[in-house]
This record gives sequence, C-alpha cells and structure tokens, in this order.
Amino acid sequence: KSEGRNNSAYYTDGLTQSARERLMLESRLRAAILEQHLELYYQPQVQLATGQIVGAEALIRWQDPVEGLIGPNRFIPIAEQTGLIHDIGLWVIQQSCRQGVLWQQLGLGNLRIAVNVSAHQFQREGLAQHIADTLLSTGFEASLLELEMTESALITQHADAIGLLQRLKQLGIRLAIDDFGTGYSSLAYLKALPLDVLKIDKSFIDQLPEHQQDAEICKAIITLAHTLGFEVLAEGVEHQAQHDFLKQIGCDEFQGYLFSRPLPADDFAALVLQGLKQ
Ligand code: C2E
Ligand code: CA
Ligand code: CA
Ligand code: CA
Repeated sequence: KSEGRNNSAYYTDGLTQSARERLMLESRLRAAILEQHLELYYQPQVQLATGQIVGAEALIRWQDPVEGLIGPNRFIPIAEQTGLIHDIGLWVIQQSCRQGVLWQQLGLGNLRIAVNVSAHQFQREGLAQHIADTLLSTGFEASLLELEMTESALITQHADAIGLLQRLKQLGIRLAIDDFGTGYSSLAYLKALPLDVLKIDKSFIDQLPEHQQDAEICKAIITLAHTLGFEVLAEGVEHQAQHDFLKQIGCDEFQGYLFSRPLPADDFAALVLQGLKQ
C-alpha cells in the first residue's frame, strides 16, 4: 500500500486513503461471497462439570487466495456498513445448520451450534422466517441452534426486541446474550427476555481468579442467571486457573484457547470423535 501514499493522483477523486481501502475491501468482499471464499470455523463449547464438548460457536473467516485468512473484525464492520451482512448472515445460519446435520450423520451426537447475529440483522424483517425455512430445509433440530446477540443489538436496534425474541423462541431455538456485562441491559429487561444463556464477556474472565472485583462480578452473574433460569458460559478462558475457578463457582460451560482455538469443520469433528473414543 505504501507506493500510493505520497502519490497526489491517489487523492484526485476526493477519496481518502481509508475510504478507498474500504471500497476496495467492499468489492473484494462481494467477490468473496460469490466465489465462496467465506468459511466457518468452530470453537468447542465445553461443559465444566464433565469436560465434554456440548456444542460449538461458528466464527466466520474469509479465506483470501492472496492474503490468506482474514478475521471477522476486519470485514464484518464493512459488511454491516454496506448491507452485505444480510446475505452473509443468512449464509452463516444456513451453513451452520447444514454442518450440524452432517456432524450428526458422522456420529458426533447432538451438538449445539451457536451463531453470531449482527445488530443489523434484527432491523430487517424476515430473520425469524429465514431461520424457520432453514431449519425445515436442512432438517436441523431447532433446539440445537443458538443465536448469539449482544445486549446493545437488542436494545438499540429493534423497537420490539421482546416481540422478535419471542417469535424466535417459538421456533424452538436457543437465545444467548453475547459479551454479557459490557452492554447496558437492565435487570427488568433481562427478566422479560426469553433467554437461555448468558455468555460472560472475556474482559471479566481475563484476570480471574486473582482480581477480586471480577471474581465477585462473575459469581454475581452466575447467581443472577441461575435465578432467572439461564445457563452461563464463560468466554475467552485461556488458563487452567480461570477454568478451575469458574468450575468451582458453578459456571455451566466455557470456551477458550485453553481447550481449543476455533477450528475448521473437519478438525472440530476429529476432536469430538477423539473425545468420544476415550
Ligand atoms: P465474539 O462473538 O465475541 O467471538 C469471540 C472471539 O474471541 C472470536 O474471535 C474467538 O476466536 C476469540 N476467542 C475465543 N477464545 C479466545 C481466547 O481464549 N482468547 C482470545 N484472545 N480470544 C478468543 P473472532 O473469531 O476473530 O471473532 C471476532 C468477532 O467477530 C466475534 O466476537 C463476533 O462479534 C464477530 N463474528 C464472528 N463470526 C461472525 C459471524 O458469523 N457473524 C457476525 N455477525 N459476526 C461474527
Ligand atoms: Ca459470539
Ligand atoms: Ca463474545
Ligand atoms: Ca465480541
């Protein structure tokens, strides 16, 4: 990129370098969608009490022939700004359901698949219908599909968030709040939402168990969630001491590099099968 930086011709159309890069990335992203260069990786979700893999979070990657693997933080914001997120989001749901059925056929058992849903996807009508159609066309069991959404997505992006969630819930799928603790949902709101899981944000996990306040916050979230009938998953668990503490305070599940990084579908399947053999 450096060759263009001091070239005055670079700015003649009035676009700044970053706007130009965004445009470039946008058109490349459109091509990537068409050429099927998007791929889902899967990170195991593990039950703390048993150590068993009970599901996976689907995390999108862009496999660029030239640049290699591009992470979602680089292209999801652009997908959101351009509206490409809608097509991508529908594909993620469909691909996850297909994968879940394939894994069942491979004998991996009833694994849950958690899918990230962007705030923008809530603004458009038809999300619930698409999910209903996809469950039907793939044959994936509704109770095995989980949607992860952030607190702010629910509160700021949809006038009738509770109504939408109730419609989603009626399909039989599971609903999770992602990055819990970083948004600003009120307790009244939490009580009103038909949720299944709170995912404690990694920032509260990082300094466990030494950090006294974070330790107390995690305990409080777990108590609150269990009182409301939700499960709790801790994300970003990297160290054994974090794991042991979370298990001790009654957290239900965890996810993180300690157990596994997000894996390509085949590697994930191999990991699960290896666990089943033991
Ligand atoms: P997220 O949903 O909060 O996902 C957790 C991120 O933390 C993932 O990064 C995951 O790879 C990473 N992670 C997991 N365990 C650890 C750990 O132990 N340590 C550290 N340092 N990181 C860990 P990733 O895959 O780069 O995804 C980043 C974000 O991109 C996600 O954050 C999510 O907001 C978004 N994203 C990913 N896939 C999708 C998708 O299919 N659709 C939408 N709308 N957003 C997605
Ligand atoms: Ca997530
Ligand atoms: Ca998260
Ligand atoms: Ca996040």
